[in-house]
Amino acid sequence: MARVNNWQIGREMSYWYPESRPRRQFAAVFDTNKCIACQSCTLACKTTWTSGKGQEYMLWNNVETKPYGSYPLAYDVKLLELLGSQEWEGDTYAGRTIFEAAPAGERVLGWGPEEQDYAYPNTGEDDCAGQVDHGARMALPHMSWFFYLARICNHCTYPACLAACPRGSIYKRPEDGIVLVDQGRCRGYQECVRGCPYKKVFYNPLTGTSEKCIACYPKIEQGVQPQCFVNCIGKIRLAGWISTPEKARLDNPIDYLVHIRKIALPLFPQFGLEPHVYYIPPVHVPEAFNRQLFGPRAAQAVKAYLNAKNDPDLAGLLCLFGSTEMVVARFKRQGETVIGSDESGATLVQVPLKEPVFIRPAIDPRLQVIRTNCP
Ligand code: SF4
Ligand code: SF4
Repeated sequence: MARVNNWQIGREMSYWYPESRPRRQFAAVFDTNKCIACQSCTLACKTTWTSGKGQEYMLWNNVETKPYGSYPLAYDVKLLELLGSQEWEGDTYAGRTIFEAAPAGERVLGWGPEEQDYAYPNTGEDDCAGQVDHGARMALPHMSWFFYLARICNHCTYPACLAACPRGSIYKRPEDGIVLVDQGRCRGYQECVRGCPYKKVFYNPLTGTSEKCIACYPKIEQGVQPQCFVNCIGKIRLAGWISTPEKARLDNPIDYLVHIRKIALPLFPQFGLEPHVYYIPPVHVPEAFNRQLFGPRAAQAVKAYLNAKNDPDLAGLLCLFGSTEMVVARFKRQGETVIGSDESGATLVQVPLKEPVFIRPAIDPRLQVIRTNCP
């Protein structure tokens, strides 16, 4: 085991391979507060990549309702239980990662789902935590709550799938950090399926190999965001590139949300993989639940997000979500407009911070028409 630095847990940790970071790292921010569970992302991915034989059950992108939803069934609670105590001391994780908690002779603490665990991908959909009593009405904070968690592969810095593979069939591309399975080398041992705590590698029984989200790399290579991003109805997603904290750039959208404003957080950072899908936590959920999913900064992230209305740069950046199909590598605000550009500085999109509102008179005297039925 090598010693590597994991900035998400604020300390060094053990990993099977030495630290080797790609030239740039693909990353994404998902705003959970905007997801409506329409599953357009799920279908965009399904119809693009997993409509073949042996792939019927695969959902490289899925959207589950928390707290009860999960795909495959209980993927998260099973591992949380296996891992045991997960205490933080400030921003430093004091518990064990899944690499440090691996049983003797194994590289990762993991488990293998059974066929039945993949049978009901929408279990728990729209089920809320707590009881809704007779006569209950909506009030803030919500006594009963749920939220939607959209998930893809995290293209981790320290992928457990890669560490677990005994044949070295999984690799991380040096040019963009995307994690792929070499279909020619894979022999279908499924150690990656057991190892990935997010269960984002799937075994294809027809080909006898494992398959996973490829971050739509043919699109990324063209500077275009992946299918599940550009088809997102809620405009909750932004793809881009993340730096390590000491190299964070003010004009890089992902750096700004993760490192500067710190409103976007990794999912289960305590597992130790340094995953690169970052979530803006839901604002209406108990702090302890957010903390378990997103780590010790969850409450501060919620506070900063709620303050966006007083923070024009942050508000402007949030307006860029879903505004263009291109990858926005740089952004800046000019007055009431936010501008997204590519790495060369060429403008891709301009969005007003506030959409103008036009109120038409109910009666048009020139055409002599009534435009509404309640003038
Ligand atoms: S999320 Fe899972 S499949 Fe994706 S890189 Fe990380 S360990 Fe591998
Ligand atoms: S398309 Fe967007 S809004 Fe719809 S379920 Fe997927 S992530 Fe949520």
